[in-house]
Amino acid sequence: MEKGELVFDGNEKQIFATGEPDKVIIRYKDVGTAFNNIKRAVFHGKGVLNNAISTITFEALRDAGIKVHFIESISDREQLCLKLEPVPIQVTCRNRIAGSLARILGVEEGLKPQGCILDLRYNNDDLGDPVINDDQAVALSLVTAEELRHIKSVACKSNEVLTELFGRAGIELVDFKMEFGRNAEGELIIADELSPDNCRLWDARTGEKMDKDRFRLDLGNVTGSYAEVLDRLKKTKR
Ligand code: 5GP
Repeated sequence: MEKGELVFDGNEKQIFATGEPDKVIIRYKDVGTAFNNIKRAVFHGKGVLNNAISTITFEALRDAGIKVHFIESISDREQLCLKLEPVPIQVTCRNRIAGSLARILGVEEGLKPQGCILDLRYNNDDLGDPVINDDQAVALSLVTAEELRHIKSVACKSNEVLTELFGRAGIELVDFKMEFGRNAEGELIIADELSPDNCRLWDARTGEKMDKDRFRLDLGNVTGSYAEVLDRLKKTKR
């Protein structure tokens, strides 16, 4: 696939055009950012690890019949993906209360709700990605009510698939953030990545954090933990 011009240079990923109008190449960088870009560092090899992990998670979702933008990994840090129009909503699926929700609710990290909790954020850097509810998302025309129902159903199904995938590797999927985009037909498809950068992953036996919280909370061994996630996923791959 011919790699065309750089069309988007993000903090952690770049997007390149291709010879086909409906496809792009996404390149994973080694940069890590947190707290709306306030914190930033380079982790050598992170992009390669996230490309490999995201390939496994996207393939698991696709095998379960869920539509994802990922087509194939084409180099150690690049994926060929569908070109989508981003939907400016972040959907977080939580199997335990941790991170921002633990802070907002004033509870210790780890509280396990009965089902999963779905949160929405308005993807808007200037506003700091505020939490919004369904009515607000529809009022802003970010999505229709019907699209929101579809997004939530896809998020719940994806949670089941990914919980099982990581569970086999001895890793608990505590929460994860998904983003969606629309193709030319207006179909909603999972975009972005699903890696330790946007999933909270705890060692199922020890509870040790194996995700970006190692960077956010200055716990060290960021790439070592990502490499351990990949290694375990590879060993349990069916
Ligand atoms: P929280 O809202 O608790 O901070 O994060 C919930 C989940 O979404 C976590 O798995 C976290 O990694 C992911 N997440 C939240 N905000 C961002 C963000 O701006 N970028 C990325 N990559 N992941 C995020």
